[in-house]
Amino acid sequence: MVIPASLIEEIVSAAKSSSVEICGLLFGERSGEEIRVIEAKAITNRLKSPEAFEMEPLEMVKVIDDAEGRGLEVVGIFHSHLKCPPRPSERDLEGMKNWRVPWLIIDDKENYGAFVLEGEKVREVDVRVV
Ligand code: ZN
Repeated sequence: MVIPASLIEEIVSAAKSSSVEICGLLFGERSGEEIRVIEAKAITNRLKSPEAFEMEPLEMVKVIDDAEGRGLEVVGIFHSHLKCPPRPSERDLEGMKNWRVPWLIIDDKENYGAFVLEGEKVREVDVRVV
């Protein structure tokens, strides 16, 4: 997955300044295995929890409609981890069954990783910051 440095910085700084997990959608283009992220749209975490997230559904629909209108598709999901490393939690793994796109997880120490569920297996996705 190719992502602009400015987007990573934006997500990291939002993650560091929030007392709850931040979350949102990554939009861009896909060609074959190659995913190019163009936009990151933050969505309200309706759980307002430092340990879990759930995107506000109406906000999600609006953001997806808007992006699709501009020819962009959902190519990933991002969220932050406050007190644990950037690897999928048990809860994340459940969510990944429904959203089989790479999940970019960023912690408050600026570490990040992306993961996708393929079948029952989690695969780490290579993140190339450009
Ligand atoms: Zn998580």
